[in-house]
This record gives sequence, structure tokens and C-alpha cells, in this order.
Amino acid sequence: MKVTLSEVSPRDGLQPIQGFVPTEQKIALVRALHAAGMRRMEVGSFVSPRAIPQMADTREVLEAAKQLDGLECTVLVPNRRGFDTALEAGVDRLGLFMSLTEGHNKANLNRTREESFADLASIVRDTPDSMKIRFNLSCTFHCPFEGVVPESAALEFVERIQSLNPRMEIALCDTTGNAGPDQVARLMREAISRWGSRFAFHGHDTYGMGLANIAAAWEAGCRVFDAGSGGIGGCPYAPGATGNTAMEDAVWMFRRMGVETGLDWKRLLAAADQAASVPGALPGGRVRGVPAARAAA
Ligand code: ZN
Repeated sequence: MKVTLSEVSPRDGLQPIQGFVPTEQKIALVRALHAAGMRRMEVGSFVSPRAIPQMADTREVLEAAKQLDGLECTVLVPNRRGFDTALEAGVDRLGLFMSLTEGHNKANLNRTREESFADLASIVRDTPDSMKIRFNLSCTFHCPFEGVVPESAALEFVERIQSLNPRMEIALCDTTGNAGPDQVARLMREAISRWGSRFAFHGHDTYGMGLANIAAAWEAGCRVFDAGSGGIGGCPYAPGATGNTAMEDAVWMFRRMGVETGLDWKRLLAAADQAASVPGALPGGRVRGVPAARAAA
């Protein structure tokens, strides 16, 4: 059995850090993760540099990442302008994103859900066949403004997304880390049974349920997961906010379950330590602090 892991710390992990992380440091992290065996990575985001200054150097980071053997580079894109930049820069996989809930979409993207959907639908149509697509659906399970998302409402929207393109990968994202494992399992199982094995799971560890949710999604048949080395993320000015489920914790769990990850444990720990030591980053995860897990490296 094999799992596909996509590393998101260079984007989701670094983005909330207040001070600008030097481009060289970002590139060094991407290289360390690749050296650990990572073959899929979200390296940045083509968004307005005024809105998110931390991602202003995504082009340079992408250029460096594209030099690495066998690495599939994803860049996040929320709109047509980002799409045009992604076409020009030549990303391997387009990372479209919007929120399943109106409240979060408005707060995060300053557009209604229907405006985002129409824009992204036209981008999906205009994406050349040579470019893969990942459609990220934020707040599929829980929204900071609207609370727990009813499963019927989530499936209704996923139905519309999946009809855009039969080959496109769709990530059900637990943006707030507040999903329950039973909820993740039900929704993932239902989505896969209706629309096939094209779903990925992206989760945060805010309430300590990150690994439980990954395990639940795996049991439900999901085989593609996002995670972030060092579990970095959150915001120093927002107490309690945390990053993605730590990649090294997910890898430890999958190895323990006899699932192949393709990663070198020793090098992954080194890369996770590197991510955790980025100034301003708030690290998460458990296994980096377990002596026996370190000794296994
Ligand atoms: Zn996220």
C-alpha cells in the first residue's frame, strides 16, 4: 500500500509568519524536503503581494524548485490574474482554491462564493491538458463564521466542483482543524463512492485531531494527503492558531501502519527541524520531540 504525500510548509506554513522569510531560506527548505524524498510540494502562491507579502517571491522559489529532479510543483491560484502568472511561470499543478462557505470565502477572498466559482470554473476550462489541477475546497467541514458545515451542503457543492473536469483532483480541506474524524470519514467515503478516487485531504492540527482525521480519511479510501513538515503555521498574534498536521507525524503513522511513503526518515526529520527553526514560525507536531523517534533516524 502506498500513500501520496504533498508537502505544504513552504506555502501554508510560511505564509502566516510576520517578518519576510528570505527567499534563500525558502529555497533551502524546499531543497531539504526534496532531499528527503518529497516529490510533490506546494511551493507558493500567486496572490497579490500587497495582500500577502510573504508570497511575493513565489516566482523565484518556483524557479529553484523546478530544477529539482522529479518534483511536482504546485502553486496556489485564487483568480484569473494568478492563473495567467502560473501559465507564464509554468507550474506542474495549478492549486485552485476557494471556500465552501460563504462567510469564509468573503473574508478570505473578498468575493462571494458564486463569484469565485464562476471565475475558477472558467480557469479550469482554460487550463491546458499538460497542466494538472488540484481544486482546494477550504472549510469543507467547519467554518470560523458558520460553524460545522452540514454534510448535505458540503456534498452539494463538491458535486458542482467535480463536474467541472473529470480528471481534476479535489481536496476536502479542514482549514480550521475542527473537523471530527467521523465527519471526515463519512464525507470522504461518500465523495469517493459518488465520484471516484480523486479526492485528497488537507488538514490542520489546531485541536490535536489532525492525525486522527488523516487516519479516518485513509480508512475511507483517500490516498492523497497534504501535511507540513515541522507542523509550522498559525500566527504569533492569534493564540491557539496552529499549522498543518506535521508531515513527520503523518509519515511516522503511515510507516507504523505499513504504508509506503517514499521518504527517508532521517532526512525528513532534518527538513522538519529546518522548517521549525525558521524565525517567527510556530512549530507543531509530536514525533520531533520523541527521543525514540529521533533515535530511529
Ligand atoms: Zn491549510
